[in-house]
Amino acid sequence: MSIIWTWSLKRCPGPIFVEYHFKFRQLLRYCTGGRYAGLTKKMAEKPDVLIVGAGFAGMYAIHRFRSLGLSVHAFEAGTDVGGTWYWNRYPGARCDVPSLEYSFGFSEELEQEWIWPEVFSAQPDILEYANHVAERFDLRRDITFNTVVTEISWQEDNHQWRLTTDQGDTFEAPFCVMATGCLSVPNKPDLPGADTFKGRVLHTGLWPKEEVDLTGLRVGIIGTGSSGVQAVPELARLAGHLTVFQRTPVYTVPANRKRMNETVQNEFKDNYRQVRELQQNNLRGISNFRPMRNVEVNRNSVAPRGEGPMIKEMTPEEQHRYIKERGLESIYSFGDIYFDLEANEIANELFRDTIRTIVRSPTVAEKLLPKDYGLGCKRPVLDRDFYETFNRDDVELVDLRATPIETITEQGIQTTERHYELDVLIYATGFDAMTGALLKSNISGRDGFKLAEKWQYGPVTYLGLQMRGFPNLFTVTGPGSPSVLCNMLVAIEQHVNWIGDCIDYLRKTGTRVIEPLEASEERWIVHVNEVAEGTMYTVPSCNSWYLGANIEGKPRIFMPYVGGFPRYRFQCEQEAASGYEGFALG
Ligand code: NAP
Repeated sequence: MSIIWTWSLKRCPGPIFVEYHFKFRQLLRYCTGGRYAGLTKKMAEKPDVLIVGAGFAGMYAIHRFRSLGLSVHAFEAGTDVGGTWYWNRYPGARCDVPSLEYSFGFSEELEQEWIWPEVFSAQPDILEYANHVAERFDLRRDITFNTVVTEISWQEDNHQWRLTTDQGDTFEAPFCVMATGCLSVPNKPDLPGADTFKGRVLHTGLWPKEEVDLTGLRVGIIGTGSSGVQAVPELARLAGHLTVFQRTPVYTVPANRKRMNETVQNEFKDNYRQVRELQQNNLRGISNFRPMRNVEVNRNSVAPRGEGPMIKEMTPEEQHRYIKERGLESIYSFGDIYFDLEANEIANELFRDTIRTIVRSPTVAEKLLPKDYGLGCKRPVLDRDFYETFNRDDVELVDLRATPIETITEQGIQTTERHYELDVLIYATGFDAMTGALLKSNISGRDGFKLAEKWQYGPVTYLGLQMRGFPNLFTVTGPGSPSVLCNMLVAIEQHVNWIGDCIDYLRKTGTRVIEPLEASEERWIVHVNEVAEGTMYTVPSCNSWYLGANIEGKPRIFMPYVGGFPRYRFQCEQEAASGYEGFALG
């Protein structure tokens, strides 16, 4: 391992003082003059692998690669670990995967020692878990925080990836792993007059660390996707008055809000190997493990997604009874709604009928009901009192389809109908998903070929792991892999393990570079599209971020792999077992 003596002097007008810090085993540099006086920077050792991002993917990559004897260094824009769960701190932020499933499986000690307080975790609990993992496995010593990677380029002469940061530093390593997350670049629509607003502006995906006091304030929120739906009930409780600006109504079902039952948690802990095995063989990386020791849990269980009865084979009375007995969330369990448009519409109407019984004002209820797309087109949204919130006197719904925003003003929002005075404006307008962070990193591969150019008509990858023309660059949960359609922690572990094993194989066989064959990429893209065809995800009425439809000008391509996690995993395992037949090694 060699030391690279690369640092930027351009921000420091005076001399630089360098000192070795024994405790942190790092060289620290102090700028002795000008406005950067006292600034300390970490000195990096030249590692085997550079990692971009210190969310769960980057964190596990550090741990896994270290265990293979590789030296690593990661860069993270935030001041600490956690990724999605570091940035999305808005009131009401929660995970939509059960806590006992949304956890790492690589360490039995970690599995046994961690206690989840709720069945579905709130953001602070998941962030606490991320911090615990960072401490337990001593991850922070290989992470530079507060640092954005601004450019990544392949150096053909020495077969290295060169990373440039916003601090002006450059780093090199033979391998680069993009652990930048699927939902990490917030989308803020370019609304007319947006810069003129005099009040406070917030984005759910970039929520401040310090507490935001909304007491007595007039708050407006744009967007009713997963983030908006979770935030609305909490904001209504905190603010003086809340106005919800909705463009497309959402299908949302009640989340399980139970405290964790100790017996259930213990039974999971006793059976974690089986739970992990079941996850590996489930389409979405969810074990659906049913504890037997707690009778109440068994009695109330809802059939997993798509594994319940066929809605078309039931009478309307049976359909309504099914929902009444099991809750609205069981609407996703009907077996025929994902491929049969007629069955889908029956379920949509059943959903609408149920909401009409919750929202007191029929006018407001009708505005809240999705009518031009079906259940299963978008990621299911889970809420806590979303519809009930519109029964409050201090909450107002604005239908932006009927009365679009004309402009943001100094005092609020002007729609075609009227002006809404606001003190705080919150964007819950989602993300440039899956490709956003990769393209933002300004990656150029062999011969200076830009990733943005390669992906101008949509992402092209092999297995969502690598791109031809970008040797030794790996993406964790990249487009073309199950990623967001899978339990993310399961998908991350599988990807990082595969990448680690691949690098290990290259080292052991004296191979310097790996990249996919053109034929492999083409075959994979065709397959990814084939499996998405005929599903509710790609019907013409569906406009989701899975398709890039939320970002103006983004190519409309179904980005994740919908063929299921086990099938995908098998493809990856076959590649490794064959000595990476689908790749060019050199
Ligand atoms: P989203 O699903 O993309 O929703 C964005 C919302 O903003 C939509 O209602 C959208 O309306 C609206 N919007 C965007 N641009 C607009 C404009 N110019 N004018 C008016 N409205 C506009 O984003 P998200 O809610 O942040 O969720 C994204 C994903 O993050 C989720 O699908 C989920 O995977 C993940 N997430 C998960 C959780 C959880 O675990 N429970 C929580 C939050 C997020 P249109 O639909 O009309 O475009």
